[in-house]
Amino acid sequence: MKKLCTDYYFIGTEASKVRGSWGVILVIWLLFIVSAFMVFETGFVLPIVLFIMAMFFTLRRMTGQKKVCPSCEHESMIPLTSQKAQSLINDNNLSVKDTPEPPERLDLALVGLLRAVLILLVVIVWMVL
Ligand SMILES: [Zn+2]
Repeated sequence: MKKLCTDYYFIGTEASKVRGSWGVILVIWLLFIVSAFMVFETGFVLPIVLFIMAMFFTLRRMTGQKKVCPSCEHESMIPLTSQKAQSLINDNNLSVKDTPEPPERLDLALVGLLRAVLILLVVIVWMVL
């Protein structure tokens, strides 16, 4: 759905801004896998700490999504259908172009990938224990 940025009058689909990056999360998960394999040499503390860290960052990344204006990154997008948006459009002679909606975000694919990694982890942990 298209929205209007009340700061710069940008009209378009809002973007989602997330905290943290999948790269860092994947590295922590990989470290966890490695430490899980070496559990008999290093003990249980390291893999447990890494697992908690990985879960924390993953959950934060998945729940910490903010919807922002793709132009100025402010959380200032309001629906085009709202009264305020309509009056802003009229007052500033903004043109609402009918551009196609962008395709589904890459994040969905990454969530699927993460799920696959989690299943793999369960299998690995099961094999190690
Ligand atoms: Zn904006």
